[in-house]
Amino acid sequence: MDITLVPGFNPGPYTGAGNNTYVISGEIPTLVDAATGKAAHLTALAETLASTRLAQVLVTHAHPDHADGCDPIAERWPDTAFRKMPWPERDRLQSVECVPIEDGDRIPAGDGTLLVVHTPGHAPDHLCFLDEATGTLFSADLVVPGSSVVIPASRGGSLAQYLASLRRVLALAPARMLPAHGRAIDDPGAVLSQHLEHRQRREDQIVAALHAGDRRPEAVVDRVYEGLDPGLKRMAQESVVAHLVKLEEEGRARSDGEEWELS
Ligand SMILES: [Zn+2]
Repeated sequence: MDITLVPGFNPGPYTGAGNNTYVISGEIPTLVDAATGKAAHLTALAETLASTRLAQVLVTHAHPDHADGCDPIAERWPDTAFRKMPWPERDRLQSVECVPIEDGDRIPAGDGTLLVVHTPGHAPDHLCFLDEATGTLFSADLVVPGSSVVIPASRGGSLAQYLASLRRVLALAPARMLPAHGRAIDDPGAVLSQHLEHRQRREDQIVAALHAGDRRPEAVVDRVYEGLDPGLKRMAQESVVAHLVKLEEEGRARSDGEEWELS
């Protein structure tokens, strides 16, 4: 597959250096993810496409840094098809009509085919796309190399689903992963295992915090995330709640919805 990284030019506390989008050249020129619609992204996209059309955009999930660019792209390339797994309440934020896709679909892209791999957890509609011919996986927000992934518990995130998605992709054994944030990953097995281990360590810390008497997610955040940038506190709390919900689902903790304790 002939793949070109086109940066989203949207750096920030939640996007790191900004989003990666990928153009797959060939008979069916394809863009993986729409970023946020920044003028610099549209310019770079036009330069990469040169004189070819843009046949389709595959959107990995409805979070704004992946989907807000859909409308501006549709305006500039009106014949482009948009495809994503539906998440109705979020999809309404864009005016483009997306063609629904689902796990197991095979989508012609570039001069090859991408297998759709549903990987919920970070978002309910989260998809990865696997080029089975080369083992290249467009991994979206499944992992962030050198960092970790936010599981927004109050907005469709599920830690249990996220762990299952990591294990599923580990079993697929991709040769290379192209994430939406950060560098290309040439050692997917190691990075996926690091993310699984990170979650286990975090769970151990949260169980210890409950054991020590913390009841509210804010208290757990203060204990577990030392020296946290205050701007990231809300997201840290979301991740802690995701862990608490998982412990509750497993019968290891109980809650009245605001406070948690070990069972
Ligand atoms: Zn996301």
